[in-house]
Amino acid sequence: MGNDLRKKRPAVPRTPMLERRPEERVKDFGEVPLGYSPEEVKLEAVRCLGCKNKPCKSGCPVGIDCAGFVKRVSEGDFTGAIKLVKEKNILPAVTGRVCPQTEQCEGSCILGKKGDPLGIGFIERFVADWEREHGEVLPDKAPATSRSVGVVGSGPSGLTVAADMILLGHEVTIYEALHEAGGVLIYGIPEFRLPKDIVAAQINSLRRLGVVIKVNQVIGSTLTIDELLTIHDVVFIGVGAGAPAFMGISGENLIGVFSANEYLTRSNLMRAYRFPEWDTPMNPGKRVAVIGGGNVAMDAARTALRLGAEEVSIIYRRSREEMPARAEEIRHAGEEGIVMRLLKAPRQILADSSGHVAGIELLDMVLADADASGRRRPIPKEGTEHILEADTVIVAIGGHPNPTIARTTPGLDVDSRGYLVVDRQTMATSKARVYAGGDIAGWGANVIKAMGDGRIAAGAMQELLTR
Ligand SMILES: Cc1cc2nc3c(=O)[nH]c(=O)nc-3n(C[C@H](O)[C@H](O)[C@H](O)COP(=O)(O)OP(=O)(O)OC[C@H]3O[C@@H](n4cnc5c(N)ncnc54)[C@H](O)[C@@H]3O)c2cc1C
Repeated sequence: MGNDLRKKRPAVPRTPMLERRPEERVKDFGEVPLGYSPEEVKLEAVRCLGCKNKPCKSGCPVGIDCAGFVKRVSEGDFTGAIKLVKEKNILPAVTGRVCPQTEQCEGSCILGKKGDPLGIGFIERFVADWEREHGEVLPDKAPATSRSVGVVGSGPSGLTVAADMILLGHEVTIYEALHEAGGVLIYGIPEFRLPKDIVAAQINSLRRLGVVIKVNQVIGSTLTIDELLTIHDVVFIGVGAGAPAFMGISGENLIGVFSANEYLTRSNLMRAYRFPEWDTPMNPGKRVAVIGGGNVAMDAARTALRLGAEEVSIIYRRSREEMPARAEEIRHAGEEGIVMRLLKAPRQILADSSGHVAGIELLDMVLADADASGRRRPIPKEGTEHILEADTVIVAIGGHPNPTIARTTPGLDVDSRGYLVVDRQTMATSKARVYAGGDIAGWGANVIKAMGDGRIAAGAMQELLTR
């Protein structure tokens, strides 16, 4: 179909992706959306207008040629499509599932002006899954160089650096503190959103390309950055910002209060979600209150429900429109029966006689006009204190950088909040031959932005190595 004909066509709604029914899916950790069939993906792909200036590509932090791969899909060339995606993105099965597409590629899609934007994430997910089922397309590798790259942390930023540098012919070693590689993709995001075997398959592709992954290596403790610089020509730090943040209110040290990272790590990485098959149970709580409105809060709440909680609430101090979580996750949480207690902020956590959580005192909020950050500021409504009974409180209000590396690395500058200071054009830190990106560089905090940082750092490292 020619471009002109497509443009004259009335708005066609997005091809829906089948999902498991809420009452069925809350009983287990199986994935919620079921993916497209080859027929459905082509039906969705032909909706693309094929715009000349490709706004979807500019909307993607790693510059995927979205219109290009979608065109190949519309022609049934799934191998060609995945090849094009993988030129820019080594984790397409991950980003197809968890990217905030509504703010990025799909947010820039012209179709979205009059109706549903193109389902670019759904199409990306299809081609990535199709590759896994039909044979992996490994990119070509440049001839071996004698240069060596050390990568600290195996989240999306570190994995991107590792992929880019191994393809350029360098030796690459990843040092990971935990016993499994993948960062938040493994310990944070639950199975029902991002199955672990999918992350493992993407990481194994890197191993097949020659990347060495050393787990149980806490850099700053097992080895320092200065020691890594004696082994490697350049070092990239992508250690995330996983130290938990708390609210600083009374009762946060009671039994039954978790940081979301601890709760999710126990379920995901320690495999409590597979008890009794794995002998690592946890007490999920019966009446669970989750504080926060982002993806982490949605993941913690939906995990609690699946682990057996009877009532799960999300407490958020702004309204639904301001929630930073992906729209799909908010919808899924609501469908599954999570109670959204909006415009409420916790004042204190209350204890029973044994020092266990018994409830939370909440205060109603109203929203003032947007502040400099562009977000509407919540203001407490005095006299509206009330109590929500709960036996478990999960705090999901963000994370902080862990100071281990900064404290043990002379010459590595951090800002007032502990994030590494980097030059945004190159991701170079204040220390020679050391680069950093992703959440530890304090910008963005999502998977594709972390990957974008990794891409920039890899480019700058290559320039240094070939100077
Ligand atoms: C529960 C949850 C859900 C999320 N959902 C989404 C989503 O749906 N979409 C989205 O785009 N983003 C989401 N995010 C955010 C996203 O996952 C992060 O922005 C992204 O993973 C950051 O990548 P990174 O490479 O900076 O580091 P991380 O993914 O944080 O990985 C850092 C790695 O470094 C390791 N490490 C730390 N210190 C050391 C050390 N000293 N030595 C060696 N290794 C170390 C850690 O163990 C970890 O494996 C979510 C985050 C969480 C916590």
